[in-house]
Amino acid sequence: MTSLEEAFDAASFRTQGHALIDQIAEYFTRVRSTGTDSMPVLPWVDPESMRRAWPASFEKPGEQELSSLVARVLAESNHLHHPRYMGHQVAVSLPLASLTDLVSSVLNNAMAIYETGPVSTSIERNLAAWLARQVGFGTGADGIFTSGGSVGNLTALLAARSAMAGYDLWEEGSHAGPPLALLASEQTHYCVKRAVQIMGWGAKGVSPVAVDGRFRMKAAALADAKKRAEDAGRRVIAVVASAASTATGAFDPLDEVADFCEANKLWFHVDGAHGASAVLSEKYRHLTRGIERADSVVWDAHKMMLMPSLLTAVLFRDGKRSYEAFAQQASYLFDGAARPEDEWFNSGTRTLECSKSMMATKLFVGLSVYGKELFADYVTRMFDLGARFAERLETAPDFELPAPPDGNIVCFRYMPPGLAVDKDALQLKIRRQILGDGSFYIVQTRLPSGLHLRVTFMNPFTSAADLDALIDRVRAAA
Ligand SMILES: *Cc1c(COP(=O)(O)O)cnc(C)c1O
Repeated sequence: MTSLEEAFDAASFRTQGHALIDQIAEYFTRVRSTGTDSMPVLPWVDPESMRRAWPASFEKPGEQELSSLVARVLAESNHLHHPRYMGHQVAVSLPLASLTDLVSSVLNNAMAIYETGPVSTSIERNLAAWLARQVGFGTGADGIFTSGGSVGNLTALLAARSAMAGYDLWEEGSHAGPPLALLASEQTHYCVKRAVQIMGWGAKGVSPVAVDGRFRMKAAALADAKKRAEDAGRRVIAVVASAASTATGAFDPLDEVADFCEANKLWFHVDGAHGASAVLSEKYRHLTRGIERADSVVWDAHKMMLMPSLLTAVLFRDGKRSYEAFAQQASYLFDGAARPEDEWFNSGTRTLECSKSMMATKLFVGLSVYGKELFADYVTRMFDLGARFAERLETAPDFELPAPPDGNIVCFRYMPPGLAVDKDALQLKIRRQILGDGSFYIVQTRLPSGLHLRVTFMNPFTSAADLDALIDRVRAAA
C-alpha cells in the first residue's frame, strides 16, 4: 500500500512531473502532423465499447503507472491540437495556460471568499475590468467569472430579473407578479431557454424573434415578438442577442437591438460566449458594434481565447448589477457589508458556485507573457479561415452554403447538381465516414433547410491545404 507520505513526496512529484511534461511535449509534436504518420483526430469508438474498455475496478492499484495511464488517455481522446480538428468550438489550449492550470490545481484555492483565494480573487477583479474595457464598457463596469457560458448566461439573466421584474421573485417567488418573458432568436444557444426554465418562467418564457437569411436576428421583428408575449399576459424584461450564435456563427445586429432595448426600457444581454473575442481583432471588431451598449455580456475564454475549460466572464456595464443575481447572504461566509460592492472580494456572493477553480489565473499569465496581440491575431486568423473556406465552397459546383459565414463557423452541404438521393441522409453518411476514419473532426447541424455539415476553425495550425483536403475528403466520402 502506498502511504500518504509517499503520495505527497516532493522528490517523486519532481520525477513524475518531468516525465509527464516530456510525454506531453512529444504528444504536441506528433499531433501536429498531417502527413502519412498522422494520428486520427478522434479515434472513433462507440460509447458502450469505450466504456467497457476502461477499467472500473481499483482492486490492484499500482499495476499501471502514471505514464502508461496518461499515454492511453492521450491516445484515445479527441485531439483538439490536431490541425484537422474542426469540430465544436472548444479552445485548443495554449500550452502556457495548461502549465498555469497545474499551479492552480496544486494551490486549489477555493475562491468563494477572499481568504480562500487572495491572489486569484484580485486577478479576477482586474481581469474582469480589462475584459470590460475591451468590450467598450465605461469605468463603472465590473464582472465575475463562472464555470462556463451556460452558468454565465443564467447569472446575467438572474441579475436582469432582479433589476427589471418589478417585484421580488427572489423572496416572494414567481407567483408574486405577472409571468415574465425575454426575447431571443431561434438561433440562440439552448442554455438561454434552459436558464429561463430554471428560473421558472416555463417554455413560453422565451418569445422567439425571427431571423433573416443570414440567421441574424431581425431587429424589425422584435416589436412583434414583444407583442406576442404581452398578448399572452407576460411582462417582457429583456432581449438576448447572440454574438455569435452557435449553429451558424451569425452575429446579431447589436446596435439595432440596443436601440430597441433603450426605446422599450428592456435589459440588453449579449451572449458572446463564442464571439465576444472578436472585439480584440481590428479586422472583425465591427461584427460586435453595439456590444458596449449591453447591460450584460457573457464571454467564454475557453472558446476563442485559447484557454482550457472553463473560464467565462460575466460582465456588467453597471457593475453594481453584478451583486443582484444572488441576493441572499450566508452569514457564516460573508460579513454582510452595508453596501455589497464593499465586499467585492468575496466573489461567492455573486456566483452560483461556492468553491470554484482559480480559473482566471491562466488568462492573466497568458496576457502578461504574450500580450493582447497574440489573442487578437488568433481571432483574426480563425475568422479569415472561415472566409477562405466559404470562398472555396462558393466556387465549387458541388457544394452549397446556406449563408456566407460571419466568422469561423461555417455550415455547408455536399450537393452535386442533379443529385437524386435524400440530401439529409447523404450529409449524415458523409459525416459518419469521416468520423469513422478520423481524418478530420467535423460536426453537423440542422437548419430550417435541412441537415448541414458544420466546421469551426479553432486550431491555429489549420492551413489552406487542410481546407482543400477536407473538400477532397467530403467528395471521396460521398
Ligand atoms: C458555447 C456557447 C454557450 C455555452 O457555453 P458553455 O461554456 O459551453 O457552457 C452559450 N452560448 C453560446 C453562443 C455558445 O457558443
